[in-house]
Amino acid sequence: MSKKILIIDDDAEYRQLMGEVLSLEGWSVLEAADGETGLEAVSRERPDVVLCDLLMPRSNGFLVCRKIRSDFTLRHTKIVVASGQDYDSDRLAAREAGADEYLTKPIKPYDLLALIARLTDDTTIMAPPEVIPPTAPPQPAWLKFWGVRGSVPTPGPGTVRYGGNTTCVEVRAQNQIVILDGGTGLRPLGRSLLAEFQDQPLHITILLTHTHWDHIQGLPFFTPIYHPRCRVRILGFEGARRGLVNVLTGQMESPYFPVPFGELPGNIEVDELKDLEFPVGNLRVRAWFANHPGICVGYRIHTGNELIVFFPDNEPHCRYDEAGQPQPTRAEASLDYARSQESKMIEFLHGADVAILDAQYDRPEYEKHVGWGHGCVDDVVMLAVRAQVKRLFLFHHDPDHDDNRLDELLARARQIVTREKSPLAVALATEGQIVRFAPALQPA
Ligand SMILES: [Zn+2]
Ligand SMILES: [Zn+2]
Repeated sequence: MSKKILIIDDDAEYRQLMGEVLSLEGWSVLEAADGETGLEAVSRERPDVVLCDLLMPRSNGFLVCRKIRSDFTLRHTKIVVASGQDYDSDRLAAREAGADEYLTKPIKPYDLLALIARLTDDTTIMAPPEVIPPTAPPQPAWLKFWGVRGSVPTPGPGTVRYGGNTTCVEVRAQNQIVILDGGTGLRPLGRSLLAEFQDQPLHITILLTHTHWDHIQGLPFFTPIYHPRCRVRILGFEGARRGLVNVLTGQMESPYFPVPFGELPGNIEVDELKDLEFPVGNLRVRAWFANHPGICVGYRIHTGNELIVFFPDNEPHCRYDEAGQPQPTRAEASLDYARSQESKMIEFLHGADVAILDAQYDRPEYEKHVGWGHGCVDDVVMLAVRAQVKRLFLFHHDPDHDDNRLDELLARARQIVTREKSPLAVALATEGQIVRFAPALQPA
């Protein structure tokens, strides 16, 4: 299919001249006589290149550039601004507005052809980093907690031991860097990655469970997205109301943030997942739906040797009484239904070396939050016991729980493990903590 170029210019003679030259070179040429008509054609036709005049009626060239660059889905469209004026300030302003090149009229047609051939050379368009050939033998897998808090960051003296940043976990396995969720823990993680990789290329995959604030707010502050040598691939499922790209670009629109998503200099791909099973390099990943408002999933990562399951926001379907017997939740009156849902979750979690699970509430708190989509520590421990998880990390700590309160939750969790005579190791996810998988996982 021939590539499309849109010429936006109020000079009909110029459009015709350039159009003829480009058509002879195999380009499919579209024309618009003013900025607004041009923008309509851009969104309708999605051209590979826009050749845009600067001074023209109904939206000048700067506005046209800005408008195109505010649409993330048009990020591969190249913009060449052509102007009869040759001021450095115009060049700078056009670049700032998102133009890829600036030419001064009159333009020699073959100069233009050489320029757009260079701009649209397919080798310059980034391919998604689907499979990165290993450059070194795989290192033993490990993971690190960068944010363990639910809902909202909670800095302060009461949270120094377990941490105040929201959801973010780094997984390293099979030479892949996988980040689970982009809460505020993503900010220090980005700095750490850049310090570690220095000038080397950096390939990162971010798996988003859902787009509640505590899972995406670190993204605008994740420094690799500002470095052209970094490739960041963001994967997640479409939300209940808006596509993933719209949600992620929306949180960086003015007036919320000064840098629009479409203008980030890093190589960023946002891919909406359609299937529940997919690879990330040599890692096998499965997703499953959480019991949480909207569309929210958990991920199960098989590294080849280890199984890691991440369910940061999830309300277990089954409740357990003091003696460990299942009880129907108020939200799901039918015990049978709850059990059938739980059995799917048990299958998903089964045999995990590490399970990171939402355990936001203790039993009295949970009574007041049934149906909110978060876990009660008693039920979460029973779920992990029944799924024969080896090591459970209680996660998504409530913003109102200080370190001492979290110690009480852990004590309660360990009581249940003892009562069940289970070999399950249980700990509180702690910001900064590294969990290594080799040579063999040692219980906490
Ligand atoms: Zn959350
Ligand atoms: Zn949530």
